Amino acid sequence: MLRREGYEGRITMLDEETDAPYDRTVLSKSFAPDSAPKAALRPAGFYAEHNINIIRGKVAALDVSSRRVRLADGATHAYDALLLATGAEPVRLDIPGHELPHVHVLRSLADHRAIVAGAAQAKKAVVLGASFIGLEVAAALRGLGLEVHVVAPDEVPLAKVLGPELGAMVHRRHQEKGIHFHLPQTATSIEAEAVVLKNGERLPADLVVVGIGVRPRLALAEAAGLTMDKGVLVNEFLQTSSPGIYAAGDIARWPDAHTGASIRVEHWVVAQRQGQTAARNMLGHQEQFDAVPFFWSKHYNVSVRYVGHAEKWDELTTHGPLAERQGNVAFRQNDKTLAVASVQRDVDNLKAEVALEANDEAALAKLLHPSGSLH
Ligand SMILES: Cc1cc2nc3c(=O)[nH]c(=O)nc-3n(C[C@H](O)[C@H](O)[C@H](O)COP(=O)(O)OP(=O)(O)OC[C@H]3O[C@@H](n4cnc5c(N)ncnc54)[C@H](O)[C@@H]3O)c2cc1C
Repeated sequence: MLRREGYEGRITMLDEETDAPYDRTVLSKSFAPDSAPKAALRPAGFYAEHNINIIRGKVAALDVSSRRVRLADGATHAYDALLLATGAEPVRLDIPGHELPHVHVLRSLADHRAIVAGAAQAKKAVVLGASFIGLEVAAALRGLGLEVHVVAPDEVPLAKVLGPELGAMVHRRHQEKGIHFHLPQTATSIEAEAVVLKNGERLPADLVVVGIGVRPRLALAEAAGLTMDKGVLVNEFLQTSSPGIYAAGDIARWPDAHTGASIRVEHWVVAQRQGQTAARNMLGHQEQFDAVPFFWSKHYNVSVRYVGHAEKWDELTTHGPLAERQGNVAFRQNDKTLAVASVQRDVDNLKAEVALEANDEAALAKLLHPSGSLH
């Protein structure tokens, strides 16, 4: 976006991963051996062509007074403007056996490659966690023909985010595809050939994937003295408390223009749009970040699209035959629609996004009326 907006000065990207920038969201959708190369975000040569310098290495410190970042190898880089987008890292499961070589997490392309290699030797997999990553991983492993068991403390997967009905529909879809669920249940240890559950059951497993959530990578911002609030606190222009430093993506907590709440979300499209707004603001545009959060998740042929942000709600309404894997779910609090989740109704979800952006409750009511859907 900096180049698209006509900026001709230096751009340096500092990243500790050795792969060229890639799409993380495809990593959990398939473990087919050819799926990783499709993850690259740009063709080879793009960064050189646009004079974007990518430097590999871990940034160890950020000195806001001298406007410099220091890499772990001691090299320093000066900046006029800085975007912090350090993302998140998987929460590690602290039970005996969690460091065994057949136990994986999934955040990076390197993790993805390790799972693909492990799956090639495996027959039985256990996935710990039944949220988006856990379920997508389960579906992808099932797609390779493995026997897959999912263990999680939830009664109904995804119910805390999508509500019980939509959660149950996604759950059923996975069961129909042959996934075995152990709910509500937790693992107490992992052995070379099995996962031991709290109820004493032993699930044979030659591959284990842990998907129990992520935590934002805040160490750099914290040590630099930036104002934090369970994330890096930014204003509506995505500026942190330190002049010239912006934050975006999984680490940023921003004032949501639609609800007034201070929110942090871990979604691809939000990270992408915030990066674009931060770029324009680095060039002096003073553009408010007011996009409505959006994410999608895919489970076999069921694609869920979710627009808005509802950490809790006092009213949940379902529109359409969800059991037949179609419909919309509206999440409301104090008579205000906070979010709409849609299954196989992509046009409705786009319309809901426009209505949420405009705070147009009348349009939302029409859309979500039992006969209001266009499909
Ligand atoms: C497997 C998977 C599937 C997903 N699927 C979906 C989906 O279907 N839909 C959806 O909306 N979202 C999905 N997400 C979430 C989405 O990918 C994230 O919200 C998004 O990547 C966040 O972007 P980001 O730039 O904030 O952080 P990241 O993409 O995590 O990038 C942060 C980068 O900073 C680097 N870094 C961190 N600290 C340092 C340091 N000190 N020095 C140098 N480099 C550093 C990291 O190596 C990394 O390259 C998925 C995530 C995963 C892992």
